[in-house]
Amino acid sequence: MKRCIACGMPMETQADFAMGDENKDYCIHCARPDGSMQSYEEKLKSMTGFIVKTQGLDEEAAQHAAKGMMAKLPAWKGI
Ligand SMILES: [Zn+2]
Repeated sequence: MKRCIACGMPMETQADFAMGDENKDYCIHCARPDGSMQSYEEKLKSMTGFIVKTQGLDEEAAQHAAKGMMAKLPAWKGI
């Protein structure tokens, strides 16, 4: 099973892949409408928003947590 290189989500079905393309290394949540992968800034923003919503952290703490999570993912290594 593949994991999304940009957010770590397991991609189990074809529908989980960007554009439904199983050759892609990132998931539907990390793709732009045109099918290209979102940038670090775009992903950081959406992950921060997600953490604020699900964990009730303030913006700064959520962004810190998001950065920590993203640092472990292959797409953002060395950023
Ligand atoms: Zn993803």
